[in-house]
Amino acid sequence: MNIIKALMTICMITAAITPAVSYAEEQTQPYFQEIDPREPLDPWMQSFAITEKLYEGKSDFQDILIFENSRFGRMLALDGVVQTTEADEFIYHEMIVHVPMLTHPEPKKVLIIGGGDGGSLREVLRHKTVEQVTMVDLDGQVVDLCKKWLPNHSSGAFDDQRVKLVIQDGTQFVKETQDTFDVIICDTTDPIGPGKVLFSSEFYADCKKILNPEGLISMQNGIPFTNGLEITSVFANIAHEFKHVSFYVAPVPSYLGGYLAFGIASEKYSNYALSSKKLSKRLHSVKGSMRYYNPKIHKASFALPEYVNQYIPKIKKK
Ligand code: SAM
Repeated sequence: MNIIKALMTICMITAAITPAVSYAEEQTQPYFQEIDPREPLDPWMQSFAITEKLYEGKSDFQDILIFENSRFGRMLALDGVVQTTEADEFIYHEMIVHVPMLTHPEPKKVLIIGGGDGGSLREVLRHKTVEQVTMVDLDGQVVDLCKKWLPNHSSGAFDDQRVKLVIQDGTQFVKETQDTFDVIICDTTDPIGPGKVLFSSEFYADCKKILNPEGLISMQNGIPFTNGLEITSVFANIAHEFKHVSFYVAPVPSYLGGYLAFGIASEKYSNYALSSKKLSKRLHSVKGSMRYYNPKIHKASFALPEYVNQYIPKIKKK
């Protein structure tokens, strides 16, 4: 054996206990290293060179790192997980926002849960129908740091008169608010750490109570290649509350594994892959041009590969 096996085991354990944010001392330049936490004995990692560290610290809720990378631009990592980068954020934000917003015929009141970097807020405000956006993030420090170091994400959105920023736990907000919404966008961290509660059935039940009858909810749902069970558990939790639950996908290169799933649910819409004709008409009410989203992408993003379909419980296919 067994010397080789023993050596391999030592290597794997060493890698598993390496902190998520590590700086390879032997390199001429420091690196941020993200490790998939789900398989500690067989870790899969990605590294980004830090050309300039802009901020590193700890808030009351999470570790925050903001740095510059020559390929991805400025990047935000929370608790050692890449959240967003200047280079590819448009894919994530256009898809988490415009798919639900354009499925609704006239979204006026929108709630964003999380979204501290301001990218989703920026995209929501492009819709001329929108009269009010409430954004609820747990961590005021993430919001302030992103305004300072990732200003292109919010691009002035926090100053828009239609915006109400609330610094509070999202679960508490949806439980207590008297307001109602047309669209809820859950732009959250993954279901580990402070974002975990935002994937629970209790949270989705509270969201349903504050959604108008024509309302929709969307959420980021992780990387199905590494963590398809996240789809299964979100489906189980949300299908209790909403009649129509579906998933769609988009590639976000800076996320470990790249190919990201989103969830969408409502009481009203049995088909989220609307016709190009309908979507093109609705797109007239959105200011500016898109870099990823278009009506064909919207429809195509609901075509899921079989390995992803397998994670969706069969009742969906009735
Ligand atoms: N695009 C990212 C992704 O897919 O990982 C999400 C980015 S956004 C920065 C995530 C935000 O969720 C953070 O600002 C974090 O503070 C917020 N968050 C985490 N847990 C929360 C909670 N319980 N309530 C409200 N916001 C929360």
